[in-house]
Amino acid sequence: ITVPTGLFINNEFVPSVDSKETIEYVYVRMLREHPASREICDRCINPATEEVICSIVAGSEKDIDIAVAAARKAFKTTWGKNVTGFERSRLINKLADLIERDAQELAELEALNNGKPVKIARDFDIGDSVACLRYYAGWADKILGQSIEVDNKTKFAFTRHDPIGVCGQIIPWNYPINMWSWKVAPALACGCTIVMKPSEITPLTALKLSELVVEAGFPPGVINTVPSLGSVGGAALSSHKDVDKVAFTGSTVTGRRIMEAAAKSNLKKVSLELGGKSPNIVFESADLDQAANWVGLGILYNTGQDCTAGSRLFVQDTIYDKFIAIVVEKFKQMKIGDGFDEASGGGPVVSKMQYDKIFSFIESGKQEGAKAILGGEKRPGKGYFVDPTIFVDVTPDMKIVREEIFGPVLSVAKFKTEEEVIEIANDTAYGLGAGLHSNDANQCMRVSQALEAGTVWVNQYNILTNNVPFGGKKQSGIGRELGSYALEEYTSVKAIHWNYGEKLDWPL
Ligand code: NAD
Repeated sequence: ITVPTGLFINNEFVPSVDSKETIEYVYVRMLREHPASREICDRCINPATEEVICSIVAGSEKDIDIAVAAARKAFKTTWGKNVTGFERSRLINKLADLIERDAQELAELEALNNGKPVKIARDFDIGDSVACLRYYAGWADKILGQSIEVDNKTKFAFTRHDPIGVCGQIIPWNYPINMWSWKVAPALACGCTIVMKPSEITPLTALKLSELVVEAGFPPGVINTVPSLGSVGGAALSSHKDVDKVAFTGSTVTGRRIMEAAAKSNLKKVSLELGGKSPNIVFESADLDQAANWVGLGILYNTGQDCTAGSRLFVQDTIYDKFIAIVVEKFKQMKIGDGFDEASGGGPVVSKMQYDKIFSFIESGKQEGAKAILGGEKRPGKGYFVDPTIFVDVTPDMKIVREEIFGPVLSVAKFKTEEEVIEIANDTAYGLGAGLHSNDANQCMRVSQALEAGTVWVNQYNILTNNVPFGGKKQSGIGRELGSYALEEYTSVKAIHWNYGEKLDWPL
């Protein structure tokens, strides 16, 4: 496998115009002869082995300018209103086919750079990304406006759902290919052009996907990819005066900065998918074995590096001891190991920074009086492995209960009544996901209605599908991805008022 290491602008891999910075990445074989490869100045490490393998170019503010100009030119000439929905659909479907063809190779690259198991990257992240592209390929020729009666005699109006224009897309490291697809697919379907800034921690698959963009036949400039540090490329995109929209997934802190930059520059449209501290509630009538499986998926999937991680578990007092015993047994069965080991259900966390952050939360939990009944200790040896950790005896004010940890760390509390658990579940600044497990249908309806979250799972957790919207309430974000709702994020509604008979008397 090889991966290009330059910036991808106008369908070509190019060096930075002025930056000497590179970011060092894990990779099996770096294209050292590539003109865009420069001296190494920053380090990124295979999370399973802590080895540095390759470096790529880190784009500058000027590179972002060039990429935005390329995207603007494509928007005005070959894309935007210059291409039919049928053609957009054809190209998006072609891209999906190519990703499907290269799924194994892309999965290995994702595993190297991010740490997640190859089989999970291939069967879930990439499988879902292919489906996402195909779902939006289906929408591309169905972006329809409305015809609106005004007076039935002389006037009517209609709307056009125009592509919003050039989109800056800033994505995180936890699902590099998935987040790429969630952002790229609806934007392309609507006729937008893109400057993508992958996370500086995991840009390799975005570069590899850029090769497939060329192979699929997209015109130059439609999708550009500029790996860069967030404070450089991300900041430049969000404050760029010629970017019409910025779509972001990542932390709430960065989301706030992006919104400020958008407001101060050109009031560009912003959509934000941010952090969470999601509750998962188990009532006494639930199927306890199944509920424990979903609790496990909720907090251990992607080694807990998931914005919807069900990190606050609430268990009804009548079943508490029995249920916790089942959860502990299930968590012990979860194998966190090297992503290239077929037996691994979860890989290492992505970076040393993330590893240190998770352990500082674990320490704070212990210091604040929570009791770790599973995990909570460092493993000897190499790799950023964090074992499933369960804290009991937590109180609502503890840091591990209030802040997003982004690791496989579950805090558990007991509750007595439905009213009480709704109150504590909603006692958070976030509102991304929430889960409840119960065999009482009326209770499921009442509680799902009362939970303050963009997504509520009933008798399941962490399952998303491309035709159902996803997004947050409160400080978990603005706007929706997936489903038909995502199309609104990439279109601008134009109303056209048409007079076919009214004469205007003059003077007024
Ligand atoms: P981050 O929010 O800083 O990074 C996400 C993306 O934003 C990256 O592409 C980054 O380069 C970019 N970015 C950073 N600063 C920017 C700026 N000023 N302007 C524009 N873009 C900028 O997240 P992180 O530092 O990678 O991780 C920190 C924490 O964020 C994690 O520990 C986790 O709690 C959370 N996180 C959440 C999600 C999510 O899906 N909600 C994803 C990743 C990280």
